[in-house]
Amino acid sequence: MDIRIINGCVVAEGNTLKRVTIYVNWGKIEKICDGEDKSIDVRREIDAAGCVIFPGIVDPHVHFDDPGFTDREDFGTGTGSAAAGGVTTIIDMPCTSLPPVINGCNFDHKLGIVRDKAYVDFAFWGGVTPAQIESGSYVRDLKELKDRGIVGVKFYTVSGMETYPRMPLPLMDTAFRELRELGLVCAVHAEDCELVDFYSDHLRNAGRTDPRSWYEGRTYEAEPAAIWSVVGIAEKAGNKLHIVHLSSKEGLHVVQWAKQHGVDITAETCPQYLLFTVDDLMEKGSVLKIAPPVREREDREALWDGLKNGSVDFISTDHAAGIYPEEKTRESIWDNYAGIPGVQFSLPSVLTYGYHAGRLTLEDICSLMAKNAAVRYGLYPKKGDIAVGADADFAIADIDGEWTVTPGIMESKGKYSPLMGSKLKGRVIKTIVRGEVVYDVGKGVTGRRGFGEFVKSNL
Ligand SMILES: [Zn+2]
Repeated sequence: MDIRIINGCVVAEGNTLKRVTIYVNWGKIEKICDGEDKSIDVRREIDAAGCVIFPGIVDPHVHFDDPGFTDREDFGTGTGSAAAGGVTTIIDMPCTSLPPVINGCNFDHKLGIVRDKAYVDFAFWGGVTPAQIESGSYVRDLKELKDRGIVGVKFYTVSGMETYPRMPLPLMDTAFRELRELGLVCAVHAEDCELVDFYSDHLRNAGRTDPRSWYEGRTYEAEPAAIWSVVGIAEKAGNKLHIVHLSSKEGLHVVQWAKQHGVDITAETCPQYLLFTVDDLMEKGSVLKIAPPVREREDREALWDGLKNGSVDFISTDHAAGIYPEEKTRESIWDNYAGIPGVQFSLPSVLTYGYHAGRLTLEDICSLMAKNAAVRYGLYPKKGDIAVGADADFAIADIDGEWTVTPGIMESKGKYSPLMGSKLKGRVIKTIVRGEVVYDVGKGVTGRRGFGEFVKSNL
């Protein structure tokens, strides 16, 4: 046997902590024994004393910008940042690399470039553009992407990207029907573009440049309105629908309605929507500029409740680093990049503000940050759980360990965060991918570049 992990506890059914010994062979979990078991010879022993062994965190929504926008992030710094956060599998978006992942050729090109840089395992989102639907090439292109193992396809109801435009609703209906046949998830960035454009232009034209104008321009109703639209389409097309980075209480109500009416819908939210409100945006400024914007206290609390009662299915980060300080400190809020790097801080911040604040149990966190996304995207049972036969991916954390967020500890290229200077309670001690320690709190990222493997969805 290769490795034995001793002295750590896993989160067992009924939310109890159970002391176990985990044996790993050829990168897979071979055996899990109760208590201490040193009966089998091993090559190496990892001591997890005082720690909780979480399943490796799955972050199903990141933008690692490679190839194409590598001034912001690349697959090495992005996956290094994941490793430092206990994240062992990421799913990268199709739209923030060039060319976008909208056919087999572009997929192969991206995989060829990023696979030599990855520290943790990764899967891909695919994409589709209005032009492909109008020309009819989407049928062949989506099939090529499905054959290569994407988890689903990303859509925008509003887009600020020239290289990946928004999808008008009638064309989305066509794409949803095709993706139902392919069995893939349709993920939607849901903000109504007419509302967002109209009110944002109005404020810009009035000369507003303050952080709050970003929040006011992307008016509250834009999210629930767009979710209603895509739910309306998905209900008829019968596809799998997923709402990314849910930010509002009323958006959540639409998701709940859809779930009650038989739509195959899931939703995610991100730590930034669970930790911050518009008051923080006004205080911190552009560092907290994201789309959709952070909302009010009651929205934040509704999202925590949604995670607890199952109407929000999992937590992602929407990790998207801007060039810092250039793209995040311009005078006008409109001129700054919308996005924050977050993959390194998701588990510690959910432990701090979820577990220690009494909002979530450790069992909830295992589901919301690993298993649920792995199941939805066809990465389970290889990823997402601590079970015999699964990949030996773990986030070993001192759940009471206190530490402070500083620029120096950030592995991302973008050394900024709305959490900067915050004290968090919950610290990643070691991250293990397929039995290899890729991060150690005392040494930093210890993995080998290129060790991370592409994981094919089984959808
Ligand atoms: Zn995103």
